[in-house]
Amino acid sequence: MAIWNLGSINADMVYALPHLPAPGETLAASGLQRFLGGKGANMSVAAARAGAHVRHIGAVGSDGLWARDRLTEYGVDTRHIAQVDQPTGHAIIAVDAQGENLIILFPGANHAIGADQVSAALTDSDTGDLLVFQNETTAQVEAAKLGRERGLTVCYAAAPFSAPAVQAVLPYLDFLILNEVEAAQLQQATGLAPADLPVEHVIVTLGSKGARYHQRGQVAAEFPAHKVKAVDTTGAGDTFTGYVLAGMDRGMPMAQAITQANRAAALMVMRPGTADVIPDLKEVREAALD
Ligand code: ATP
Repeated sequence: MAIWNLGSINADMVYALPHLPAPGETLAASGLQRFLGGKGANMSVAAARAGAHVRHIGAVGSDGLWARDRLTEYGVDTRHIAQVDQPTGHAIIAVDAQGENLIILFPGANHAIGADQVSAALTDSDTGDLLVFQNETTAQVEAAKLGRERGLTVCYAAAPFSAPAVQAVLPYLDFLILNEVEAAQLQQATGLAPADLPVEHVIVTLGSKGARYHQRGQVAAEFPAHKVKAVDTTGAGDTFTGYVLAGMDRGMPMAQAITQANRAAALMVMRPGTADVIPDLKEVREAALD
């Protein structure tokens, strides 16, 4: 089995700030680090570190070959990452002393992915493989349709949130994951609470409160978060999603996959950085968490 991830690849520039800037404010950062990031890359690394066979579908510019190489080093199959005539996507991430973040995204090459590229990649997919995508690339609807046609389990991490983007792929989804704020926005747009969406598996992540799982027709299940000292929540959601997908791909019951994902995400919020610091399965299993 494999996880096909139509996903963004970014250079994450992380600036340490005393507080998040207000409109018009000029603020000196006390530090800068560059990491591999993008929701897509983060999820690919997380799922690979959780033991899944991950095949990334994406694009970088000539300035982003390091990012593709790094994904390969982390065990991700990068043969379907195209090199295009655009700058690689990047994110400017401000992190305050409490670990809260603010993010500016430039999509670049992530918006140069065509349906033909996705279709060519998925000719190698097998029935029962997982397909995941987020809202940071082009070709999402085409991928969702194609995934459904080919008998893949179609998964959507609805971030950065856009109600029309979710609504466009909703008919093709088997799995939807979004945070509490996004779930409320979707409910406002559609009139449907998470439990009423026409999707078999819906997970709402609740930050430091954990996650809630809705299986269609069942009572929702709560998974409390571990109590840890948060230093940087960037990438916690992506790590959580990658671990859940890897669990599903390996045939784990959803409760077990979510329990493992909660542990992985708790470790993640204790670390500054994104894809480069996602914990592997051994760390997740052995970590002393409450
Ligand atoms: P991101 O900040 O990566 O965009 P998100 O908004 O997608 O995150 P959250 O709901 O904030 O997702 O968090 C995802 C998961 O990370 C939670 O379900 C939980 O397991 C874990 N998590 C987040 N914040 C904390 C925290 N402060 N302490 C422990 N676990 C946390």
